[in-house]
Amino acid sequence: MSAILVTGGAGFLGSHLCDRLIERGDDVICVDNFFTGRKQNIQHLIGHPQFELVRHDIVHPLYLECDQIYNLACPASPVAYQYNAIKTIKTSTVGMVNVLGLAKRCRARILHASTSEVYGDPEVHPQTEDYWGHVNPLGPRSCYDEGKRVAESLCMNYHLAHDLEVRLIRIFNTYGPRMDPNDGRVISNFITQALRGEPLTIYGDGSQTRSFCYVDDLIAGMMKLMDNDEHTGPFNIGNPVENSMLELAEKVLAETQSKSELKNLELPADDPKQRCPNIEKARTLLGWEPKVPLETGLKSTVAYYREQLGV
Ligand code: NAD
Ligand code: UDP
Ligand code: UDP
Repeated sequence: MSAILVTGGAGFLGSHLCDRLIERGDDVICVDNFFTGRKQNIQHLIGHPQFELVRHDIVHPLYLECDQIYNLACPASPVAYQYNAIKTIKTSTVGMVNVLGLAKRCRARILHASTSEVYGDPEVHPQTEDYWGHVNPLGPRSCYDEGKRVAESLCMNYHLAHDLEVRLIRIFNTYGPRMDPNDGRVISNFITQALRGEPLTIYGDGSQTRSFCYVDDLIAGMMKLMDNDEHTGPFNIGNPVENSMLELAEKVLAETQSKSELKNLELPADDPKQRCPNIEKARTLLGWEPKVPLETGLKSTVAYYREQLGV
């Protein structure tokens, strides 16, 4: 049994991670400032003897004791991370330093949640971990992309300077129950629009691609990476099956049996045209690969949104 700190533990991915760690027998300290996290994601854990909730913003120093740290604190939806871009940068830089300082003092292994966005609008496809990326440092996504790139550099430099045990995961688009219905990401938008009978908003012509990983697969990969004793990373963790946004819309309409129409809206600036992970490194070195096809994952996700929306 270990004491494990999960920053961003009340968010979409963090709350699933808290569940898995508690099931395994660990003690979990969840730190969250509730910017995009929701109490309902962790409601069922309140009062559990292995669970502790601390409302705290990692931009400010935090002192507590733990054996391992999963650093997930950071808004992930483009709408949320652009709402207060400077705050997003602070979370990935000042916040990252604080969490690394804590890890250093506790001699705790730390896994940092990085992102496929470090590859920007990629010119290499599918993306491998040795690709350096194609990021606009001044564009509307830069607060997130560049923040996450600095965070990776900080992790690597704490590892080199202080022999800190670091694990870097580059997460590709992940979906599933507990994604905030209002967070503006494509799967939550399409499903809530389909269930309400509203038009599905396709940004641009819908030919841009993403690869969608179901949350259970992602969390399994994240924990495998944390618990391996050899490899720092970075590791791409995601599902390598690529879909255009038009294909995704069709799948959502089929699963919800909705008659919603499609409505084209302007493509946001710097929106990556294609994204797909090469996961050979995770397959070979961690023995991990995703198991849940999009059609299967959409079923439980749609069921969750039906309950949330009461439809
Ligand atoms: P989310 O927005 O649901 O969760 C983020 C959590 O961090 C929220 O609970 C939020 O309140 C908390 N938070 C934000 N800033 C904080 C701060 N300064 N101090 C303390 N808590 C703070 O997003 P998610 O999808 O669960 O993403 C979790 C992590 O995974 C993020 O770091 C994100 O960048 C990364 N990631 C997610 C995806 C994805 O597809 N879901 C893809 C790539 C990377
Ligand atoms: N820090 C923290 N909790 C701890 C230890 C450190 O929040 O348990 C913060 C503290 O604000 C510090 C930062 O992490 O400034 C970086 O710590 P480090 O030891 O790397 O640097 P230093 O204290 O030497 O600046
Ligand atoms: N998108 C869309 N309609 C929406 C929301 C998003 O067509 O209502 C597109 C968006 O332009 C992007 C893709 O879906 O190309 C994925 O967007 P999301 O915000 O989920 O994540 P990203 O991968 O861009 O960070």
